[in-house]
Amino acid sequence: MVVTVDVKLGESVLDGLNESQKEAAATLNGPVLVVAGPGTGKTLTIVRRIAALIEEGIRAENIVAVTFTNRAAREMQERVFALLGKRSEGVFIGTLHLLGLVIARENAPDGLTIVNRDEQMDILKSVARGRGGKIEEVADAISRKKGMIQDLGDGMKDVYEAYQSALRKNGRADFDDLIAIPIGLLEDAILLDGYRDRFRHIIVDEFQDINPAQYKLLTLLSGDQQNLCAVGDPDQAIYAFRGADVGCFLDFERDFAKTTRIILTENYRSSGTILEGSSTMIRHNRRRVDKNVHTAREGGNRIKIVSVPDERAEGEFIVGEIEARIGGTSHFRLMGSRHDTGFPRASYGFSDFAVVYRTNAQARMVEDAFASSGIPYQVIGRYSTGKRREMADILSRLRCFGAVIDGVTPLRSLPAKDFIEWALRESDLNDEGGGETRKAITGLLEAVGAGGTAADFLNEVCLLTPADDFDPRADAVVLMTIHMTKGLEFGVVFVTGAEDGLMPYRRPGKQGDVEEERRLLYVAMTRAKEELFLIHARRRSMFGKREHRSPSPFLKEIGDEFTKVHVVPDRETRQRKNGQMKLF
Ligand code: ATP
Ligand code: MG
Repeated sequence: MVVTVDVKLGESVLDGLNESQKEAAATLNGPVLVVAGPGTGKTLTIVRRIAALIEEGIRAENIVAVTFTNRAAREMQERVFALLGKRSEGVFIGTLHLLGLVIARENAPDGLTIVNRDEQMDILKSVARGRGGKIEEVADAISRKKGMIQDLGDGMKDVYEAYQSALRKNGRADFDDLIAIPIGLLEDAILLDGYRDRFRHIIVDEFQDINPAQYKLLTLLSGDQQNLCAVGDPDQAIYAFRGADVGCFLDFERDFAKTTRIILTENYRSSGTILEGSSTMIRHNRRRVDKNVHTAREGGNRIKIVSVPDERAEGEFIVGEIEARIGGTSHFRLMGSRHDTGFPRASYGFSDFAVVYRTNAQARMVEDAFASSGIPYQVIGRYSTGKRREMADILSRLRCFGAVIDGVTPLRSLPAKDFIEWALRESDLNDEGGGETRKAITGLLEAVGAGGTAADFLNEVCLLTPADDFDPRADAVVLMTIHMTKGLEFGVVFVTGAEDGLMPYRRPGKQGDVEEERRLLYVAMTRAKEELFLIHARRRSMFGKREHRSPSPFLKEIGDEFTKVHVVPDRETRQRKNGQMKLF
């Protein structure tokens, strides 16, 4: 392929990229759409594109890179810093919600405070009292309206108005407002021009999961220059319930007629077997455009489809497989040489393993198995124990001095550090447990920075998402839902609950979207670099009932040539066999 790039860049920032990646990183002007499969280096290319922009003399302040999670933003910041050092300071790298918050706050003279989910529910309960129906459904409807996904239903308008005025009265905003408020503000032409002038180059990762309101904000900001680079994979759209869909790629090419479309086809992440097996499966989706992704790593271990008796055996199986691969002369090395995997690995660390599941409810049994094995692990996205819960607790204690939130401006503009000192003094947090609390808020204080105010601190807490529980530096096996795995990669991935009813997931009385469920499994499978296990239990407790289960229909779609079936027999059978062996 002949690649024409419109600039001459020093080789260093494009070093090691393939030709199409170079084109994506170096086509700096006009709309660019990078559509590419998993592991093709989309995120890597964005890092290089930021570096290329700076090399070209674009000021750091004029560059915006939008990531899907705060965690992804932090990683990208570190990688850009590693390439450019201080020259990268001033580039905005963060979620679109953070960008929205920046815009909203710059135009809110009295400050703006985000409410967290608990507080949002409290407000909704007070304004929707006596209305009947679930409060979560009301919250959902409001979220869909603000995301421009769906208009409000009948009888919702009054609740909506009451909710909005309760929020606004005290300078508060909910999460979706962080997109909705800036869109409203940018109706002002002078303001809009100012932001267009400032955010001259915008890059968006995981574009497939952008909702209509977010898309609108991006297009508004990109203005006439249209230096908007959208990067994503329609096969990995997993938030359709939030309104994201493959349609956003079609919209992009319609709305930006001069789009340069770049396709990356080489997968650097997964073995040939994993890549081909997952591609074969995703081709069963009707609503998609086929991408011809190939890999430099031919062959590799077959994808293991494992049948276990129940969810307890599932956890035990995983622990056993990890133990076999950890530590010096591992069983894996023997297997590796026997099967000639092409992945010479002396040994794995714990963080090379991920256990993923469709629903949070599945975590418990796996966790029990890990707890009794002594293998270090981290569970991501569980509100009851995660960092967000801890922070929410701290906040709710701080907020006992409700004035902080409810419109006392002097407190909001206190330096964050002073605010926390004050709040700790005023509360009982200096007593037992206070030390722990102090430790927990130190990290967030750092994130707010030296110049941060109390409001910045509170907002920082509210911007935490489930994915932010992930600590990439911990040497621990990661347990998480498939939704949390976006953008990540691991040596070995265990997908649990590969059963009909979980994949595709069916709630009682609700029809799911089979194509989206297939995309979810696709995302899970394509996180794996070297080995992939798809595990299904023959019995499991679901919705309080003990059930017989059958394998996910998606498993048959992978193709026999890429898979190997392994059956773990029932406990009774195993015991009987062991008993007989002892007899002889
Ligand atoms: P996903 O769709 O899952 O987000 P992605 O397209 O963003 O995937 P990356 O995470 O950027 O892919 O890259 C996947 C892996 O491939 C990373 O480990 C990355 O370092 C590696 N990689 C990407 N491009 C190259 C390259 N040109 N040479 C060597 N390794 C590469
Ligand atoms: Mg990526």
